[in-house]
Amino acid sequence: MKTLYLAADHPQTPEIAARIIRSGDLVGIPTETVYGLAANGLDEAAVAKIFEAKGRPQDNPLILHVADAADIEKFCHGIPDAAWVLAEKFWPGPLTMVLPAKDTVPKRTTAGLSTVAVRCPDCAVTREIIRMAGVPIAAPSANISGKPSTTTAEHVRHDHDGRIAAIVDGGPCRVGVESTIIDLTDGQPRLLRPGGITPEQLYQVLGELVVDKAVTAQIDKEAVVKAPGMKYKHYAPQAEVLIVAGSREKAASYIRRYFAPGDRVLCFEEELPLYEGFSPLAYGKEADVNTLSAGLFAALRELDDPAVRKVYARCPEGGGVAYAVQNRLKKAAAFQIVDAEVE
Ligand code: AMP
Ligand code: MG
Repeated sequence: MKTLYLAADHPQTPEIAARIIRSGDLVGIPTETVYGLAANGLDEAAVAKIFEAKGRPQDNPLILHVADAADIEKFCHGIPDAAWVLAEKFWPGPLTMVLPAKDTVPKRTTAGLSTVAVRCPDCAVTREIIRMAGVPIAAPSANISGKPSTTTAEHVRHDHDGRIAAIVDGGPCRVGVESTIIDLTDGQPRLLRPGGITPEQLYQVLGELVVDKAVTAQIDKEAVVKAPGMKYKHYAPQAEVLIVAGSREKAASYIRRYFAPGDRVLCFEEELPLYEGFSPLAYGKEADVNTLSAGLFAALRELDDPAVRKVYARCPEGGGVAYAVQNRLKKAAAFQIVDAEVE
């Protein structure tokens, strides 16, 4: 199959992409979080192609993307007031809500669950594609399953060229990590995955928020969890990743001590001078956490190379968007962290 490349700002792009979606094929689409691999979310056969293209485990449900908040009534029932308040405040934007699913949503999309995850992305061309297709799109991150997510059209080309119908190029993703996921089906609102909408923002609106243990710890493979995707290895380059915590100086002295040929250092821009001769790769500025979230996956993909032996990674501290960066980096590191202050 020859993959069509479509510029997001070309006037015919939404129509062409919508036609492909309606015909049951896959399109790589930009969003503000990461690039998605999109199909008609109501078409079982089209959704099956997503799982196949990604090599995604069948029990890992997809997010349904809608063009307007009002559309969720077609796919969800028993929608609590909190969902409307959150939609009003944060949509379009990087927040996914898990709600009770109507029978209109195929089991393939929800991976057999009675709930469905819904989101309205903050990306004009993608909302226009959804509107013109006249169906919600199911779209996980476009990366091959288990690998770092796709934050540019080039990343999607790398993983799927010749195997999907089209890719819409909307430039690099603004947020760079996947959406925040909140479960509203379980009494108290529960944070299943941190992202661009922060726990602090959610708490301010809801007045309560439980953080699921899968966010903070590795969970075992057999566990039955609310968000099945959380139990798989995620975001990881081929090499082992070790997070080195502690002050800049202590971390640099630890890393320089253990560094071996073939190792790489993933650090903040401010730290580059400390790693001269140690092939450092900066993924953003520690002083601006949005640059870290925007740059993390491109850096992890660059490090996903058989020649790389081990990655020593520096991770931002604190809440807000840093909480999402910590979550992705810790998962990429399989929660291996060393504290340079006590080494
Ligand atoms: P992604 O691979 O970035 O598209 O992530 C989609 C993630 O959304 C899945 O891996 C799940 O963790 C989560 N998700 C989707 N649908 C549901 C659902 N019905 N209940 C809980 N989590 C869900
Ligand atoms: Mg993903």
